[in-house]
Amino acid sequence: MPHMFYGVSGMKIWCISRRYCLLAIFSFLVPIGFILSQLIAGQSGGKTIVIDAGHGGVDTGANRPGVLEKDINLAIALAVRDILRSHGFNVVLTRDADTELSGSCDNDKVRGRYRRDLSARVEAVAKSGADLFVSIHANVSSAATRRGIECYFAPSGGSKNLALAIEEQLVLVAPISQRAKAGNFFVLRRSQVPAVLIEAGFITNQEERALLENPKYQRKLAEAISKGILKYYMVDL
Ligand SMILES: [Zn+2]
Repeated sequence: MPHMFYGVSGMKIWCISRRYCLLAIFSFLVPIGFILSQLIAGQSGGKTIVIDAGHGGVDTGANRPGVLEKDINLAIALAVRDILRSHGFNVVLTRDADTELSGSCDNDKVRGRYRRDLSARVEAVAKSGADLFVSIHANVSSAATRRGIECYFAPSGGSKNLALAIEEQLVLVAPISQRAKAGNFFVLRRSQVPAVLIEAGFITNQEERALLENPKYQRKLAEAISKGILKYYMVDL
């Protein structure tokens, strides 16, 4: 349509052309963005994920003066919840405060506070119809130099791939002290859905303990865990 620009200066033509160009790019990007958001929503939408902050209440988990594992676990779990929700996942926390869960166990045959607490965490998966279970802990060792993250996976199908996807992201934040391996933990053995237990670092290592107490580092770990879960779905769906 050259006649439209008749009599218009060169600079003006350039401006009009640029406007059309920007309009064309914008009209192209908006639907692409919409399609991408729908694809991501399609992959996360309808998926329910149980995030389990290990221990709680009277059960402090591992501890060192002024540092309680249960608090670190909860801080990371809350951050994972927020990140995954922002990606459209339905997230259920086994606890969102400093509480123990034995009172929530529905199975009267399970005896003992500790076992009832763990059973309640497994029950949370069935009750919520969850597709995925991720339990968050911090580690302890008699060797003060030992540090690094560990990922354990359940026997249930998909668990290993989930652990590897999460580990791939976590290694970008901190060293992995050992490759993901099968874990002999109650919450993993009983899981019917892909399940992973993460030991986010050693509170017995002075440097790692300081990191684990740092909200910015907790957020980094949460972002890595969430990204691993997202990647797991991108690949496996
Ligand atoms: Zn623990």
